[in-house]
Amino acid sequence: MPHRPNPALRVYAALARSRWPRSYRGRLLLALAGAGALPLAALGALVVAGTDDGRVRGAAVLAVAALGTAAGVALAALLVHHLLAPVRLTATALRHYRTKYTKPRLPTDFPDEAGMLMADVQHAIDRLDEIVVHVATYDRLTGLPNRILFRDQVRHALAQARRDARPLAVCMLDVDGFTNVNLSMGHHVGDSLLTAVAQRLQGVVRETDIVARMDGDEFAILCGGPATAEGVDLLARRIVDAMQRPFVASGKEVTLGISIGVTMFPTDDGDVEQLIQNATSAQCAVQSAGGNGYRFFSSELNARLQHRMSTEADLRRALERGQLALHYQPKVDVATGKVRGFEALLRWHHPERGLVSPVEFIPIAEETGLIVPIGEWVLRRACSQVAEWRDAGIPVVTTSVNLSARQFKHADLATLVRAVLHETRLDPALLELEVTESMLMEDTGRAVGTLQALREHGVSISLDDFGTGYSSLGYLTRFPIDAIKLDKSFVRDVVTNRQNGAITTAIIDLGHSLGLDVVAEGVETREQFEYLAQRACDVVQGFLFGRPVPADEVPALVEKLGAMPPARDGTELPVRRGVRVA
Ligand code: C2E
Ligand code: MG
Ligand code: MG
Repeated sequence: MPHRPNPALRVYAALARSRWPRSYRGRLLLALAGAGALPLAALGALVVAGTDDGRVRGAAVLAVAALGTAAGVALAALLVHHLLAPVRLTATALRHYRTKYTKPRLPTDFPDEAGMLMADVQHAIDRLDEIVVHVATYDRLTGLPNRILFRDQVRHALAQARRDARPLAVCMLDVDGFTNVNLSMGHHVGDSLLTAVAQRLQGVVRETDIVARMDGDEFAILCGGPATAEGVDLLARRIVDAMQRPFVASGKEVTLGISIGVTMFPTDDGDVEQLIQNATSAQCAVQSAGGNGYRFFSSELNARLQHRMSTEADLRRALERGQLALHYQPKVDVATGKVRGFEALLRWHHPERGLVSPVEFIPIAEETGLIVPIGEWVLRRACSQVAEWRDAGIPVVTTSVNLSARQFKHADLATLVRAVLHETRLDPALLELEVTESMLMEDTGRAVGTLQALREHGVSISLDDFGTGYSSLGYLTRFPIDAIKLDKSFVRDVVTNRQNGAITTAIIDLGHSLGLDVVAEGVETREQFEYLAQRACDVVQGFLFGRPVPADEVPALVEKLGAMPPARDGTELPVRRGVRVA
């Protein structure tokens, strides 16, 4: 684009185009010399004009010399002022670029030194600006557009899509388990994996699609050219497949998964932020469901996520506002019909929603990490409660507390348990911890260590919801546990479903042959109870014997059914085969 002539450069421009002198310095010197010679020229002119009167001549000489000098100085000053204009303009341009980040528009077509100064500064700033823009809008590690540029690109694409009624899709992607890679293999390995992921993504998308790196292990794709649901579905599937192939990092094979959330415009309308938010919500839903897959955003999903978010926000305050409580459900000894234990079950009294089921809020607490303080509260509350009963002279039985996966993984679990037992002066035999199969299978070596540490404190362990998870029989011998709790899904139709009946019988026998107690959960009918009792199940728990009740109802229940405190010498408590139908 041609420059509009800068008025400040008018004189400079006229002089700069003269053939002689060619250099800027030459022009400056000529201007000064010319202006300086002006009085001399004036005197010369006077001599040429000539008069005979000496005094008049003397005065005239002085006057002309003074006038000529003044004019010469003024002219020199004017010329220097104009000739220095390029320097002033360049200095101002640099200052404005530095302080206000405004790009200068200096002329680049003058050939002398001052002209080259302006041209060089203009080119340097143009280049610098390109670099600054690149650094600010591209990711240094992968070379992909970053979140700023991606948002800009979506904004442009969205404006165009609205104008041309052309559909587009925005996908948000998150690499599953990447934090673990960073933690276990170091950040440099993490970086090279991210670069490899970026390359793989670019290898899968169409040329018209834009892949960006949003942050850490988050990527995004804009499909704009135009996008169909089928096309994006295929793309998402291809990305998930592509990620299945192992990556090689530091000579080791690493397998990663990816969670993809997709939102389509105009199906899901909204501005840039809304589209990115939709895709992120869908991606979070994939992650919550275990990751490694993709999902399209839907308003129903949105409603669910909103609900979840408000539950999460409320749950954060539930503990400090005293909205959590424990209820206790009896576990009844089959042989004697007495209460052999209680299971402490968490209840949340929500101020507006009433009683919220732990099935709904425990997974949220688990995901957000809130389960750690909540779990600690449960443990402390249950132990203090049993201690209170004990101190009040009420017969006490072993009370079990459910552990969540995150609590179980917590390095200080055994220390915490010991501290709480110490604080409440509770006999460790009165505490049982319930864990699930999946918690043990995640890192079996560590799990064995944790269970051993807990048992060394005198606490017993039972395996909850047995039969719903891996049910690998081999691990039953590996893990130091005391009891298995047969899941209620088997008990529900144990009488009517022959297969479940057979599995239940097999589990009871297996438990016994390994010296474990077998507890059946969810016993609701007398038929179920009789079936289990005939197969020598040790303990039953379910609505037939009592629903979970608040702590203040426990003493009456104990009185009604009778209590079976744990054996002090560590020997097996009940007469296991003494089947008695209550
Ligand atoms: P769970 O540990 O398997 O607890 C047994 C669940 O079965 C309880 O549900 C109990 O109320 C229910 N139940 C007991 N008898 C019957 C019956 O006869 N029929 C039927 N249909 N259900 C019966 P609840 O209290 O809703 O707890 C659900 C789950 O929430 C628990 O399953 C446990 O996994 C979790 N949970 C509860 N409290 C805590 C806690 O303090 N910490 C952790 N981490 N998880 C907890
Ligand atoms: Mg349980
Ligand atoms: Mg259970």
